[in-house]
Amino acid sequence: MTYKLACEDVGVACPFVARGETVDKMMEIAVKHVKEEHGYTDEQLNAPETQKEMKAAIKKE
Ligand SMILES: [Zn+2]
Repeated sequence: MTYKLACEDVGVACPFVARGETVDKMMEIAVKHVKEEHGYTDEQLNAPETQKEMKAAIKKE
C-alpha cells in the first residue's frame, strides 16, 4: 500500500506527487516539497485548514 498526495489535488498547478509507505513518510516528502517549491511556511502548513485540505487529498494506491 502506498499513500500519495498530489499538488494538483490541493489546488496547486504542479505535477508533483508525493508517495510513501506510511502517511507520515509521505507527508514528510510532501511538506519538504511545498516548502521548497511553493514557498509554504510552517505556519501555513500547520494551519488547521491546510492540514484538513491535505489530509482530505491523500489517496491510497
Ligand atoms: Zn508542487
